[in-house]
Amino acid sequence: MRIVLLGPPGAGKGTQARRLADSTGMKHLSTGDILRAEVAAKSELGLLAKGFMDTGDLVPDSNIIAMIQQYIDDPAGVLLDGFPRTVVQAESLDNSLEEAGLPVDKVVHMSVDTDELVKRLSTRAICKNCQTPYNLESDPPAKAGVCDNCGGEVTVRDDDKPEAVLNRMKVYQELTAPVLDYYKSRGDVAEIIATGTPDSVFEKLSQAIGSGVASN
Ligand code: ADP
Ligand code: ZN
Repeated sequence: MRIVLLGPPGAGKGTQARRLADSTGMKHLSTGDILRAEVAAKSELGLLAKGFMDTGDLVPDSNIIAMIQQYIDDPAGVLLDGFPRTVVQAESLDNSLEEAGLPVDKVVHMSVDTDELVKRLSTRAICKNCQTPYNLESDPPAKAGVCDNCGGEVTVRDDDKPEAVLNRMKVYQELTAPVLDYYKSRGDVAEIIATGTPDSVFEKLSQAIGSGVASN
């Protein structure tokens, strides 16, 4: 099973994908998390990616496509979070999956209105070590600056600073919104209004995906 989660920055894709991976055993494939790990390791890809990420621009398609190849045919099934983010990436994913004889089974679009997104991103923090997301207002770590999950340092991402947030919204509209149209033109896209508590969004998501997956 391969599920694509689409939605603007701040829609909660990462939070929900983690939960879904926990409850189903599927592999959570977050290109943002993989890239942040590459940046932390100062790898060649990390050094290249950092400049794009800090300003909220996309890392070039060719780098991203090469990066995810090793993950997409995971036999446990894959939850794609943050990929594809351009139509070129979506076409490439289709080609790779076709070669492997594996289709995209479900596309879920999580929508949240822009005011709420900006508010969420400006109060978001993340564990540097295990990438667990927090909201400094609604869902802070028990001890300020320390991850509940692993004890790592909880900080604000460089790309959650205001200028980068605005650019990410613009990039989303220009380059990623067309990916939604790409999938819509080919078939079903499940729509979820991703406001409300994480629990209530998870319920909607599980329903959209079908009980077969959610109860595994
Ligand atoms: P969010 O969904 O909150 O914007 P992510 O953690 O998914 O953030 O991604 C952070 C940054 O990593 C993006 O702004 C972009 O620079 C880079 N990135 C992640 N996924 C991709 C992708 N598929 N293609 C190009 N760049 C990507
Ligand atoms: Zn952590």
